[in-house]
Amino acid sequence: MSNAHPITAKLSKWYEKHRRKLPWRDSSNPYHIWLSEVILQQTRVDQGTAYYLRFVELFPTVRDLAKAHEDVVLYAWQGLGYYSRARNLHAAAKAIVDNYGGEFPSDYAAIRSLKGIGDYTAAAIASIAYGLPHAAVDGNVNRVIARLFAIEAPVDSPTGKKQIAALAEELLDCKKPGNHNQAMMELGALVCTPRNPNCTNCPIKVHCAAFISKKQDSFPIKQGKTKVRNRYFTYVVFIDKNQETLIRKREEKDIWQGLHEFPLIESNSSHDQEVLYSSLDTQYSLIDAANYLHILSHQKLHIAFLSFRVEVLPFADWNNTIRLKIDELNRFAFPRALTRYLSDAKGFSVSNAPR
Ligand code: SF4
Repeated sequence: MSNAHPITAKLSKWYEKHRRKLPWRDSSNPYHIWLSEVILQQTRVDQGTAYYLRFVELFPTVRDLAKAHEDVVLYAWQGLGYYSRARNLHAAAKAIVDNYGGEFPSDYAAIRSLKGIGDYTAAAIASIAYGLPHAAVDGNVNRVIARLFAIEAPVDSPTGKKQIAALAEELLDCKKPGNHNQAMMELGALVCTPRNPNCTNCPIKVHCAAFISKKQDSFPIKQGKTKVRNRYFTYVVFIDKNQETLIRKREEKDIWQGLHEFPLIESNSSHDQEVLYSSLDTQYSLIDAANYLHILSHQKLHIAFLSFRVEVLPFADWNNTIRLKIDELNRFAFPRALTRYLSDAKGFSVSNAPR
């Protein structure tokens, strides 16, 4: 590791002048840094900021988070997606209380061993909170380094990852590793953007191999895309004369574990989903039908919501079903695909924004 790289000083100067004011910046509280890092994985800064402030208010310390019920944590997370992040956050908070007396661990290996914390998050916390010399490589840093050094190996291949990790360590400012890591990420977020990077205003363009060869758009090189699985969900929303309906908690190891949903029938194809619709339509009185396409990282969900008026709720004793008034739905955490339907559909009022 060396501090002599000319890129490092230029980057640091640029960061001092151009960095965004964000509520977790300039904090050395490892709990706050951890929260912000986990929330901002897969989430835009403007959306993530509201959730960050909400978490800090609801759970001011690791101990507060650890002692909260999982349902409360998932409810606070509602709308952010990738719910395993919230479950891991909660599990890690409990481990910090059980194993470290509620004090956030201060060495890299201990931080890295916590549930849900990978190389990137461990390096970010270790460098920003404790000034430890670990380079944090997220998607932004990957892109910046792949362009700076015109890395020919795909960035998602083992060789590409190794090369980028080594170069990130080489560039690291060991005197101010936290600032340096944030500067790299900020450059990727504000200047070296995925499309149309603003090279003219880039502080390190004279060092950038992709810029010099006018090949910014050719990097980073990526391997083939991950295969996406299509799934066909039909949610059956029964509403009886007392304005009561049925929901259940998703307990199985699958997407949205721990969240709630209406009775679900999963089909193998869109054809099977249509057959199911025809069959339900002949048995019950249809109030409303809506279709949504919901895209997750590896799954494409074709979701149909069918709401029916019924005299008596069917399946009320089926599979841990909860019976409740529709105006009580707000008390439960639902996946975003369902809150989207609930805010669009007639007669419901559920929001998926932080409250
Ligand atoms: Fe990215 Fe352009 Fe700067 Fe190179 S010169 S690091 S491509 S913004």
